[in-house]
Amino acid sequence: MSYPFSMASKTKVILIGIDGLMIQRAIDSGRAKTLSDLRKNSFFTEMLVDLPTVSGPSWTTLLTGQTQEVHKVVDNDFQNHNLAEAPDLLTQAAANFSEVITYAAAGWPPLIDPQDVGPVIASRVEDQASGNHYIFVRDGETHGYETIDPEVAQHAVQIIKEVGPDISFVYFCGADEAGHNSGTVEGSYFDAIERIDLLVEDLYQSILSRNKESAEKWLLVITTDHGHRDEGGHGGDSAQERASFVIAHGIGTENPSWPLDIKPEQLVGHILATL
Ligand SMILES: [Zn+2]
Repeated sequence: MSYPFSMASKTKVILIGIDGLMIQRAIDSGRAKTLSDLRKNSFFTEMLVDLPTVSGPSWTTLLTGQTQEVHKVVDNDFQNHNLAEAPDLLTQAAANFSEVITYAAAGWPPLIDPQDVGPVIASRVEDQASGNHYIFVRDGETHGYETIDPEVAQHAVQIIKEVGPDISFVYFCGADEAGHNSGTVEGSYFDAIERIDLLVEDLYQSILSRNKESAEKWLLVITTDHGHRDEGGHGGDSAQERASFVIAHGIGTENPSWPLDIKPEQLVGHILATL
């Protein structure tokens, strides 16, 4: 697999993954000011994720650009996965563009922790040693995402400021956690959404600063892996559980004009074509 890279039109990309985010409920609640503004001023489309509506398979599809038939992640256990033949978007970028600097920060271990199942984002130890790959690994399952999400954001802001990676993935899970605990109609789900919205704002501001200082071009992309039932929980085939979306916002460059009928496995290709 290869994608066209053009140094002349170099744009840095950050993909923010917000687990279990029901974007329309978030916006309607009035608790997600940044997401609301971005939704209005960006490329936006709704997207349906494949079954089962579970984080393991869904994030693996979104982050590798391959369907379950190829990556073979069908649940959150990752048994018999085929990630070796479904490299993540950062690994693909590194393979196609030797000077690329990549970064990932996440608190859900299967996405990023080399000691856990997976991980979906390859550790690329040699690239870390040479300063071409940075990872920030946390465990929100143990410590809770209300604690871990801000640590992820703080690290990401620092790396954006000091390094300015060419392609990044930053992941938050507090909304999904709250949705499981108390449903998605009212209450703590929206407290978590507001907290994450402020973290997204922090990331956005750090990108705006870089753009202001050096006219760098950035593309900020936001998506989710699934929705939730009203009472909390997902995995089934309801429209509400399958509902995802793509926000893509250009900073110092135009918003992209990606197809509105984008599929989860197509997102990586569109992102890499931007670099
Ligand atoms: Zn969940």
